[in-house]
Amino acid sequence: MTDLTNLTLTEALDGLSQKKFSAVELTKAYIAKMEANRKLNAYVLETPEKALEIAQTADKNYQNGTNRALEGIPLGIKDLFCTKGIRTTACSRIIDNFVPPYESTVTQKLLDAGASFLGKLNLDEFAMGGSNETSHFGAVINPWSKQTPLVAGGSSGGSAAAVAAKMCAAATGTDTGGSIRQPAAFCGITGIKPTYGRCSRYGIVAFASSLDQAGPMGKNVRDCAKLLTVMSGFDKKDSTSANRAVPDFEKVLGLGVKGLKIGIPAEYRPDGLNQEISKAWDNAAQILKENGAEIVPISLPHTKYALPVYYIIAPAEASSNLARYDGVRYGERVEGEHLNDLYVNTRTAGFGKEVKRRIMIGTYVLSAGYYDAYYLKAQKVRRLIKQDFEESFKKCDLILTPTSPVEAFPIGDKTMQENPINMYLNDVFTVSVNLAGLPALSLPAGLSANELPLGMQLIGRAFDEETIFKAAQTLEENIGFKGI
Ligand code: GLN
Repeated sequence: MTDLTNLTLTEALDGLSQKKFSAVELTKAYIAKMEANRKLNAYVLETPEKALEIAQTADKNYQNGTNRALEGIPLGIKDLFCTKGIRTTACSRIIDNFVPPYESTVTQKLLDAGASFLGKLNLDEFAMGGSNETSHFGAVINPWSKQTPLVAGGSSGGSAAAVAAKMCAAATGTDTGGSIRQPAAFCGITGIKPTYGRCSRYGIVAFASSLDQAGPMGKNVRDCAKLLTVMSGFDKKDSTSANRAVPDFEKVLGLGVKGLKIGIPAEYRPDGLNQEISKAWDNAAQILKENGAEIVPISLPHTKYALPVYYIIAPAEASSNLARYDGVRYGERVEGEHLNDLYVNTRTAGFGKEVKRRIMIGTYVLSAGYYDAYYLKAQKVRRLIKQDFEESFKKCDLILTPTSPVEAFPIGDKTMQENPINMYLNDVFTVSVNLAGLPALSLPAGLSANELPLGMQLIGRAFDEETIFKAAQTLEENIGFKGI
């Protein structure tokens, strides 16, 4: 039999319904890949027995004709989603043996649709990072690496690597400032951060609550559309979840881009922009044009403030969210003489360097005397960034930009390690989307001279993921990117 892990999620579902193979066979094929690729460090916990158990039920459901939307599809789950009875760590030492007594809404929806979970995927500690190097379990190796091990991107590096190396049919990710899109770009896969509120945040370990969103990472646009349809929906357990109807995102695929206006923001092409990325961007715009879209120049003048604003707001919210890991309510306790020592010892031992840095920045910008100068100002500029998008969407239906200004870089890269700001700069094209709460998708747009994937980003109006999917499908068909 051909290798079943080469099938897209959609093809696998077709094969299962036509009884060409069983869910158990499909699951075993993915388990074999998961085991063969352990060196990539994509999974931090493997749960093959549970996946096989679900596969057996799935096969029965196919026999009885009671199969559901994702019946028997083996997925990988970012270890930021609480999974009932299965260890969930956020890749932090502080909760490295936390077994949630409940299931996140998104993973519950996937289970209810018949999917199984092969295991939990690596990420930057508490999703803080852009290279998956801050994980307590160590860095993920990008499957595109040759001699030098390269980063898979972050924070959803485990998810991106696992999908690219076919260690699962698709994966979940979360995106606070680019964590679905950037690793998707680095690993040559597709991922979408939906509109804020589209997917419930209930049961997802919080990083920055006004920015965090869950989303799918898959082999192609259709797989992501299929998954997002299942993952989305109002949830009364999340007060910021949007009470809006969820369309069948797959329905729009194939409708094309005729008549759509695609905005190209001038501010996203700084002088020193990498030539290859710039070329891939022009090429993507050309494809959309040839397929009947109109290219319009737009301006997002507050782009230059997006990084500083993000790196004030995200740490501020993180410092508050992470206060619960004190060794009393949550977290591996390290005793101390007094209560204060207990807190300090617990948090000193439990958190990694980057998380500590963010807590320090966050508490600083929220503290009396600095609150007005930093946090309040950042909130004001956040509104201006959002308004830039609103103005632009009067002139265009979608915005096309590169996903990242760089391709995957070596693990331990000196420039990135020496100064955290160099790492933060990589988020320049992604963070404003989260600040504005908009949906955005990244898809592979070609290979660099080093034969590494380059990603393109499509940004849409709030709750208009459908237009994004339409255009992404057109790009995908015409680019013809081949995965590993
Ligand atoms: N790289 C960004 C950061 O370090 C984004 C992370 C994310 O989206 N979770 O904060």
